[in-house]
Amino acid sequence: MTDVNTLGEFGLIEHLTHSFPLRQPTSLKGIGDDAAVIDCGARCALVSTDMLVEGIHFDLAYTPLKHLGYKAIVVNLSDIYAMNAHPKQVLVSIAISSKYTVEALEELYAGIRAACEKYEVDLVGGDTTSSPRGMVISVTAVGEAEKKRIAYRNGARPGDLICVTGDLGAAYLGLQILEREKRIWQDNPSVQPDLEGQAYLIGRQLKPEARRDMIEAFEKNDLVPTAMIDISDGLASEIFHLCKQSGTGALIEESGVPIHPEAQLMALKFRLDPITCALSGGEDYELLFTIDPRDTDKIRFLPDIYIAGEMLAPDAGIKLSTKGGKLHDLKAQGWRHF
Ligand code: ADP
Ligand code: MG
Repeated sequence: MTDVNTLGEFGLIEHLTHSFPLRQPTSLKGIGDDAAVIDCGARCALVSTDMLVEGIHFDLAYTPLKHLGYKAIVVNLSDIYAMNAHPKQVLVSIAISSKYTVEALEELYAGIRAACEKYEVDLVGGDTTSSPRGMVISVTAVGEAEKKRIAYRNGARPGDLICVTGDLGAAYLGLQILEREKRIWQDNPSVQPDLEGQAYLIGRQLKPEARRDMIEAFEKNDLVPTAMIDISDGLASEIFHLCKQSGTGALIEESGVPIHPEAQLMALKFRLDPITCALSGGEDYELLFTIDPRDTDKIRFLPDIYIAGEMLAPDAGIKLSTKGGKLHDLKAQGWRHF
């Protein structure tokens, strides 16, 4: 018998799904992107699903249920935005153990409602069942886009500019703070958690937002990224996906990777390298996209977009050029799920 860890998450998905050819001409994109794409004429439907498991993806010791509901929706919408599409509907399925009260689930749904209101999506279905222990939440998001505006992971070409929105690493550092305070609390329950002054980092972990604003800005500026992915597992892992699917190499400039000053400071307090947090942390839910250099003017005056490097020919590999001028092979660590 083979341990699932031998293949890794992506190896396992590939192993289980490689013998499922797409039979329907309307299945424009199946497995392998942020969302599947279904042909509906000039427009397409986009579908993406994600599952959150208590104890693996969230810890109720420091995650308010309302925040959890909000985040469960937002991370799915992020996958629809990552296709340069607009989310419209969500379906929410929950498996819950008897430790959850009606009031607790109302809190969860208050968060789900807040996200639906903010992002203007409709809750249109789901499923409810029991679980022997803890909670599992599965969200499916449905979106819409004009066929010619959809951005896949495989469209980047050598010479395209690599762009990143927002800032990276903060959600990971927020998680480190929450985990630290949990350990202190477990050792001594009379000590109150010290979260003073950490609102930014903790907010990035507990209440992420999806980059709807970027997709709207692209539309206004008539820009279609050549490739795009959302940054859920760290920049390094996501650039690997873009390069693998586009058949390119890449050069990331350390000096071009946006890191919030509070993340810089906190990384140093934890004796971590800030760039490592940005490259291998997770849950930023920012966008990583590539553009044709001739489209540079279309992003030049947009706020919160940073040029972090360039796509290269495949034989150039995937490299990080450090602030000190050294060139390293980029390593994709991402999250270990099993
Ligand atoms: P993301 O990080 O954007 O949520 P994932 O890494 O979870 O994407 O998944 C990568 C791709 O594999 C997606 O296209 C997803 O739909 C597909 N996938 C993941 N798990 C399975 C599975 N068990 N069966 C079929 N397809 C899957
Ligand atoms: Mg994604």
